Amino acid sequence: MAKSNDRCSFCGRPKEETNILIAGMDAHICDYCISQAKLIVDEEFQARHEDEESDLDFDLLKPAEIKQYLDEYVIGQEEAKRVLSVAVYNHYKRISRMSQSDEDSVEIEKSNIIIVGETGTGKTLLARTIARMLRVPFAIADATVLTEAGYVGEDVESILSRLLQASNYDVKQAERGIVFIDEIDKIARKSDNPSITRDVSGEGVQQALLKLLEGATINVPPQGGRKHPEQKMIQVDTKNILFMAGGAFDGIDKKIASRLRSNVVGYAASKNRETIDREHLLQYIAPQDLKSFGLIPEIVGRLPVLSYLNPLDKEALTKILTEPRNALTKQFEKLFELDGIELSFDKKALEYIVDKSIEFKLGARGLRSLMEAVLTDAMFEYPGNPLKDKLRITKSYAEKKLTKISAQKLRVA
Ligand code: ADP
Repeated sequence: MAKSNDRCSFCGRPKEETNILIAGMDAHICDYCISQAKLIVDEEFQARHEDEESDLDFDLLKPAEIKQYLDEYVIGQEEAKRVLSVAVYNHYKRISRMSQSDEDSVEIEKSNIIIVGETGTGKTLLARTIARMLRVPFAIADATVLTEAGYVGEDVESILSRLLQASNYDVKQAERGIVFIDEIDKIARKSDNPSITRDVSGEGVQQALLKLLEGATINVPPQGGRKHPEQKMIQVDTKNILFMAGGAFDGIDKKIASRLRSNVVGYAASKNRETIDREHLLQYIAPQDLKSFGLIPEIVGRLPVLSYLNPLDKEALTKILTEPRNALTKQFEKLFELDGIELSFDKKALEYIVDKSIEFKLGARGLRSLMEAVLTDAMFEYPGNPLKDKLRITKSYAEKKLTKISAQKLRVA
């Protein structure tokens, strides 16, 4: 142990000002300096570890394989799945190529994605499934809460705070994650006329988003929000972050129709006119329609991969109930099985649930609430009852459980 007139050889503190002073061969070290040294060692180790990990640690699937993976979770939406598979493949190929420090490398630009489709058709599901497949951090941001810096609401940087949280503050991981920006249509420019009042939740946000989409080093508040002004900022480079934006773009079909009408002039066009499927105009969506809707050209330019999702019809909704790898019927069968109960569904019962979801205008999002409503009584009564080890859901059983329920009561997740 150190003698009383000894002091720390690192910071010079006398023994009496330390909690512990440890003596070495020719030197002493105090508890403060030990803590400091520990921090330095940890940081150094972490930095080395991150360097080793910075190469891609997943085998990048080919586009057809990515599509196959998506098929297991997402029903229909063939066109979008193909477009996304290619875009995701190119994006991560680009990153892996960059990390191989190619001398003559042609710089491949990033291609962020925008998906247009009614709510509940699978936009978020697609983004989430891709992130899970790649095992990269994933964050969902709601564009409606964003405002231009300095106004009530959230700064666009908060989007990256979420991604940091999703990666447990591992900046390297976050820098190759996926961000899904939901309801991008809600930040459309409010009107074509530049007005005296600033459009702080519309065009202002679009301008602020641009720098994230382009790829820049952004100062991110780790906790998000503006409530902790004292927090130390973390720098995040968005160059390799894949941004996927989604929105319903209500009424965009009219913009598409009017563009198609104005294009359809003359002889060649008159032939085209025959082939236009007026019922499903979304399939003709083009970047200029997003502009007419109110996205600024720079944003449209930074979201070059454009795809659309079809509304879900009865057949698709029925498939959603039963087919995906984690389909709702499979989830509930598993839940009951854990209590030793054999649960099964009649086809007619499932059709009835789908009809209700359509009637209540809940789409795919309503299916879970409806299933919960049908099964809650059974989930209460069956477990622990030795006489109840089998449950078959018939149409009349489902009807009985759902007749009391009004659309408002169903929580839509
Ligand atoms: P959006 O983002 O388009 O509003 P979501 O992706 O959040 O819709 O879909 C809501 C829920 O509906 C999903 O969690 C999923 O269970 C189901 N769903 C929607 N579309 C599909 C689909 N095409 N295939 C399988 N499930 C779907």
